[in-house]
Amino acid sequence: MAGFCDHKRDRHVVIIGNGIAGITCARHLRKKDHHARITIISGETPYFFSRTALMYVYMGHMRFEHIKPYEDWFWKKNRFDLVHEWVEKVDFEKKSIVLGNRELAYDILVLATGSKPRMFDYPGMDLKGVQGLYSFQDLQRMEKNTENIQKAVVVGGGLIGIELAEMLKTRKIAVTMLVRENNYWDNVLPEEEARLINRHIREHHVDLRLGVELRSVEADKEGKISAVTTSSGEEIACQFAGIAIGVKPNIDLFRESPLDTGEGILTDACFRTNVENVFAIGDCVEFRDIPGADRKKIEQVWYTARMHGETLAYNLTADKPVKYSPGVWFNSAKFFDIEYQTYGFIPPVHVKGQRSFYWEHREGRMCFRMLYDDRSKAILGINSLGMRWRHAFFDKAIREGWHIDKVMQGLEQANFNPEFFEPYYMEIIEAYNQQYGTAIKTRKRSFLSRLFN
Ligand SMILES: Cc1cc2nc3c(=O)[nH]c(=O)nc-3n(C[C@H](O)[C@H](O)[C@H](O)COP(=O)(O)OP(=O)(O)OC[C@H]3O[C@@H](n4cnc5c(N)ncnc54)[C@H](O)[C@@H]3O)c2cc1C
Repeated sequence: MAGFCDHKRDRHVVIIGNGIAGITCARHLRKKDHHARITIISGETPYFFSRTALMYVYMGHMRFEHIKPYEDWFWKKNRFDLVHEWVEKVDFEKKSIVLGNRELAYDILVLATGSKPRMFDYPGMDLKGVQGLYSFQDLQRMEKNTENIQKAVVVGGGLIGIELAEMLKTRKIAVTMLVRENNYWDNVLPEEEARLINRHIREHHVDLRLGVELRSVEADKEGKISAVTTSSGEEIACQFAGIAIGVKPNIDLFRESPLDTGEGILTDACFRTNVENVFAIGDCVEFRDIPGADRKKIEQVWYTARMHGETLAYNLTADKPVKYSPGVWFNSAKFFDIEYQTYGFIPPVHVKGQRSFYWEHREGRMCFRMLYDDRSKAILGINSLGMRWRHAFFDKAIREGWHIDKVMQGLEQANFNPEFFEPYYMEIIEAYNQQYGTAIKTRKRSFLSRLFN
């Protein structure tokens, strides 16, 4: 594979970042390349952990040890050199990494430095008790900052904002949540879904304020947060403010370097940067071209970082590089007790030429939306709240552009764990029959008939 990367037998591959992107790349590289020396550097923690599970450590459901997917011996067994230090500089000309007062030479460099929380530059953002949640260090700070407090404010109506609210509520801390938009996460969710989640947040006794922004943070005599002031002029007393207004690629280290950067490190579809033998993967990447229909140039979710790592490892060892091809977009999350799954791309507002079928359970804690092309009636996407579906079913339906009647006819197959979950798909089909004048059968088949059909 001339030109893709250095292929010498004893090459030294250095990976900056031991998150899911860096670790997946290292694991797959080791499977295919027995000889390479592989070094993984991270300033955050000595060993890889699951960032998505940090909240469960704070809530007492797990200990930090439980969110490390691999035992500590795993790294030595696979001959990974782990370096627990912050990289201060990369000298791309000399092909070396500056760590304190020593340097580490590389043949191939993989940048997997992740994201960092966005912050406002309003007055008071540097006060004790004001923070974002991204790293293990943030979790430790949050432990200290929320010790024996009564009242917190969470700023931001996205995925990390609602996690922060849930975390604080488990410690019996009263929470006010400031959301700039008219509904929770309404730059992603259509209005019905967003309103359903508004209600659910309030059911959990969070004081949700919509259409309200933060303006400043006030200090007490000791320099700790004492209140926040909002865009409506209100002062809300609190001892903690969690700022969750999104994340951005963590690339400050490379701003004054020969690397081409935009919001993230710019790469092609094979994760190549503009510098020879230097690659980037995970949250810190910005693709020069969108990697597929309905995809974005910057992807900041767990499974995409894993796919980046696996694809790059393949490219570093194969004869011919492959392009990253992630397929149909999907994502899942949890809003307090309500599970969220999405497949394909559902825009938050109506788009000409598209329509959707929407069903909501009478108790208002579950819903199902199927977006489709108005002319061909081909499915474009699914949003679901409060239920669990099989990924493979909707992935195939969207990839193959099934007619919406066909999706409904097969909906029972999409029902996840039918032995344990109520067959809500039957109510969904009934609603569909009523709205679309179809006669799709809703009868629940027996376990045996499902087994043999
Ligand atoms: C609280 C929270 C909850 C989340 N929940 C979900 C979820 O439910 N589902 C989902 O899909 N995604 C979720 N995400 C996003 C997901 O965690 C990220 O997309 C994913 O972790 C990105 O992986 P990564 O390997 O690219 O980067 P990261 O996990 O950020 O790892 C980057 C690593 O680089 C290291 N590093 C950076 N700079 C340096 C330096 N200068 N020197 C040394 N080391 C350095 C850091 O130490 C870090 O270990 C969540 C994120 C957060 C913060």
